[in-house]
Amino acid sequence: MRILFWAGLLALGLFSGCQKNADTPTAAPENIEQTPVKADPVLDFSDRADFAAAERGFIATRDNGEIRGADGELVYDLNAYKFLEGPAPATVNPSLWRQSQLNAKHGLYEVTDGIYQVRGFDLSNMSIIRGDTGWIIVDPLISKETAKAALDLANEQLGARPVSAIILTHSHIDHYGGIRGLVSTQDIESGKVQIIAPEGFTRETVSENILAGNQMARRAGYMFGAFLPKSPEGHIGSGLGQGISLGTSGLIPPTHSVTHTGETLTIDGVTIVFQMAPGAEAPQEFMFYLPQFKAFCQAEEMNRTLHNLLTPRGAQIRNGLVWSKHIDQTILMFGDKTDVSFGSHHWPTWGNDEVIEFYEKQRDTYRYIHDQTLRLANHGMTMTEIAEQIKLPKSLASEFYNRGYYGTVNFNSKAQYQFYYGWFDGNPAHLNPLPPREDAIETIRYMGGADAVLDKANADYDEGNYRFVASVLNKLVFAEPKNKQAAELLAKTYQQLGYQAESGPWRDFYLSGAQELRRPLMEDIIINTGNPDMIANLPLDLFFDLMAVKLNGPKAEGLEIKVNFNFTDTGDKAALHLQHSVLNTRMGALDETADVTIHLARTDLNKIMLKQVSFQTLMKQKKIKVDGSLLTLRKFMGLQDEFEYWFNIVKP
Ligand SMILES: [Zn+2]
Repeated sequence: MRILFWAGLLALGLFSGCQKNADTPTAAPENIEQTPVKADPVLDFSDRADFAAAERGFIATRDNGEIRGADGELVYDLNAYKFLEGPAPATVNPSLWRQSQLNAKHGLYEVTDGIYQVRGFDLSNMSIIRGDTGWIIVDPLISKETAKAALDLANEQLGARPVSAIILTHSHIDHYGGIRGLVSTQDIESGKVQIIAPEGFTRETVSENILAGNQMARRAGYMFGAFLPKSPEGHIGSGLGQGISLGTSGLIPPTHSVTHTGETLTIDGVTIVFQMAPGAEAPQEFMFYLPQFKAFCQAEEMNRTLHNLLTPRGAQIRNGLVWSKHIDQTILMFGDKTDVSFGSHHWPTWGNDEVIEFYEKQRDTYRYIHDQTLRLANHGMTMTEIAEQIKLPKSLASEFYNRGYYGTVNFNSKAQYQFYYGWFDGNPAHLNPLPPREDAIETIRYMGGADAVLDKANADYDEGNYRFVASVLNKLVFAEPKNKQAAELLAKTYQQLGYQAESGPWRDFYLSGAQELRRPLMEDIIINTGNPDMIANLPLDLFFDLMAVKLNGPKAEGLEIKVNFNFTDTGDKAALHLQHSVLNTRMGALDETADVTIHLARTDLNKIMLKQVSFQTLMKQKKIKVDGSLLTLRKFMGLQDEFEYWFNIVKP
């Protein structure tokens, strides 16, 4: 049995945590015949400026490429992508190959005198600013092991200094998860180290995806190629960064929340001017300007890839218009005084002209996708028609940093359509179609049965018409899940689509789908999502909303149960009321007419959520006291569904 401990994964849809056993799946995908993939001719591969920038200021890297956890488990391997050398093989889009070569570089780099970055030690960057007495750390990676390795490298190369402050630019785990590798709780409590984050940070870290978590986590497995081998036929990088570290993630709430644009702090002698950027890349995010260094930290608003307006793992949609306006505000406020711009992913941009051009072209890419999607929609076009037609103008498309290595123009355009119009395109045929399996069975019957479909699909596969072949064979697999020929041809088709993709997540989606068509789900991998820091910081109202999401509505039909939760340590009170197959919660007071009242400590609830102890054991130990009918309580708890990670995606 393999156990992957992906802390925070359910809550955040991103992988982190610690892989308890290094026995990761390594089976290579089946080899298939392959013709080299052509990159978009608008790209100039002779332009090596990005390679010079990605190597600029290199100081050193770690001698030992393997970053391991306390029990010796492999958390991150700096050399896992060593195969990314030379020209692109036939199994990889040359443009993505190039991006992965750039992202795979690792080490400590100087951005400008006094600002450094450790890159390639995780999916994200850790930036380091020299203050009067110590280091100001920006975005401490995903795992404490990688963050500590990054800090150790800086101390070793630049001279050891204490950490004086930590800045968390936004609420995604690749920007705060490693915090416990840098500081202890005592350092924070004693006021020795400040933690600065945007307003609303803690709630967003645990809440952004908590109710939607399991579906999102499963899809994130596809999106980041979590179960693919790292190889020219498998995962080669995510476009945004290379891999995701599998260590221990934590969360320490900020000691100072930044609330408004223009807010200025002096931290360890360094002046920092903040610009808020909410509702774009993350629900809460800020960027900041460092006047002493003439440097701007762009966080994850500007990147050396097109980012996601909708992440394929699933999340609430981001508005390209809002995003573009944040970037425009940066240009207005700081554009003329910035000599270097650095971010939480990829390498920096040097030179004022280059910085402004980069900002303008990133701004206009998001705005173009937003505006042109709406223009075409207002002409009456549907989501897929728009996504097929929309192409960036040459001035934007020819910049490598605007390419769809992470987000894609196609997917983002669909996201903007959905943001304004939803999933329905107005065509009554799409109001109430049959679900996929029923639809598939009938469609295959209309098409003359499985053999006729396979004949045509084989011929079309040979012609390279992969998109339509995938669409038809997906129906055949849903109609006849045991049809081996159909599954294998669909797997080959997904592989071809994956090899052609310029986007890392698209590649990983296709290749993960191919893998799951060929073999059983990896149900022996247990996903453990318990993370003490996240659970301790989960707001109670969200915990009860999650209970309501887990309530099995049909099973609760006709029942009315009232349950109080009385928290003996925090004084919090919650009154839960189940009726009409819905669980409503009112915080703040107990209901005197409740059937059951549970008295327990919040710390004990956290332990139950972490599965460290059971409700029953705590009752036996008299740590939980229950007033009222135990039978009713048991019935109430029995209405809660548990979610299985390994549900089918590419099969019915
Ligand atoms: Zn990030």
